[in-house]
Amino acid sequence: MTTSEQLFKQAKQVIPGGVNSPVRAFRAVGGSPVFIKSAKGPYVFDEDGNQYIELINSWGPMILGHAFEPVEKAVRDAIQHSFSFGAPTRKEVEMAELIIDMVPSVEKVRMVNSGTEATMAAIRVARGFTGRDKIIKFEGCYHGHGDSFLIAAGSGAVTMGTPDSPGVTKATALDTLTAPYNNLQAVEMLIDNNANQIAAIILEPVVGNMGCVLPEPGFLEGIRNLCDQHGIILIFDEVMTGFRLAKGGAQERFGITPDLTTMGKIIGGGMPVGAYGGRADIMNVVSPAGPVYQAGTLSGNPIAMSAGLAMLRYLNEHPEVYTRLEEIGGKLAEGFRAGLVKAGLNYTINQIGSMFTLFMTDRSVSNFADAKSCDLPLFGRYFHAMLKRGVYLAPSQFESLFVSVALTDDLIEQVIQANEESLREAI
Ligand code: PLP
Repeated sequence: MTTSEQLFKQAKQVIPGGVNSPVRAFRAVGGSPVFIKSAKGPYVFDEDGNQYIELINSWGPMILGHAFEPVEKAVRDAIQHSFSFGAPTRKEVEMAELIIDMVPSVEKVRMVNSGTEATMAAIRVARGFTGRDKIIKFEGCYHGHGDSFLIAAGSGAVTMGTPDSPGVTKATALDTLTAPYNNLQAVEMLIDNNANQIAAIILEPVVGNMGCVLPEPGFLEGIRNLCDQHGIILIFDEVMTGFRLAKGGAQERFGITPDLTTMGKIIGGGMPVGAYGGRADIMNVVSPAGPVYQAGTLSGNPIAMSAGLAMLRYLNEHPEVYTRLEEIGGKLAEGFRAGLVKAGLNYTINQIGSMFTLFMTDRSVSNFADAKSCDLPLFGRYFHAMLKRGVYLAPSQFESLFVSVALTDDLIEQVIQANEESLREAI
């Protein structure tokens, strides 16, 4: 038995399913998860001494590679002043100013501790601002584990076979309306059938949580127009795309301005941080400026702010990071496509910048139904073939891969080679 297997056995005795977040359990791909001991640059190392090339990067945050020196130093410096005050600090002001500088639509911002908190707060704010109850989300989008979002949810929820989670009350579920991604007509119908009742439309402007799915031309613009016509708050959930697809996220890349934006992952440099922000008139309903309540003992935690600030400052000052991420994403996608051709397969690759997914289906993938047509057992075999060759992928078909700038050209070649061999082994 490997050390990872031993630890997993122990973990299952004391943690539900042996993990603190479901997809980590490898349930969808079979086998026992590897327990990670450390990571540096483009690699993670497991408890058995194996080394893997990282294509998950903590599900997004480690965009500059693991243990990135400026972030590490910022944390080391910060801990000398104690770990938490539960009081205002200079760093959180600097953090807010930097986010506002980087993210086009954000005029005011509130820090929280996770992406889930950010999305939960954002819809409360939208409801408080509009006086309406319902929201529209898209099938296969994942916005964290708040009750209102576990309806046709992607990511771990669909991976575990529970896109509609037990435990969400019927009343809550009734207030969440869903439409297929990239289907404007369906959204229009929902709005017509629920006139003056929709507080917000929330979406991932590029989806990562049913695998990587891009908005079709006109989709984001169409949603923006519908929101304007009907007084609906448009929320871009940029927990994955923020500071990744451009320094100002998908909204900068596509030139669409949402009313509210939710952020997470990269924003904390690897520490537990989230944020929501947007138009000042909307954000001013948040307590104590206004009546919509939202709070947090550890919100704006000084260590987390230090890590996040170091990360965002670096990204803000080094535009070449984004050029390199485009290059890496493009090279990987091209290499993977060549691998498919060699294997005689017609599967789909969706890629934008440093996000991409190889879907085990012949269908082009533009919504949840397309993503769900994938050959999941094949994906499981492919995943393990890649792992065996030292490449650490997300253990689910319904995830995007996240590339970091630490990936060198040599490593890209290794990954492409591993992909070719793994496809051959898996089919
Ligand atoms: N929103 C999106 C788009 C996400 O991808 C995630 C997590 O993967 C969340 C929200 C939830 O963030 P967290 O896991 O930090 O609660």
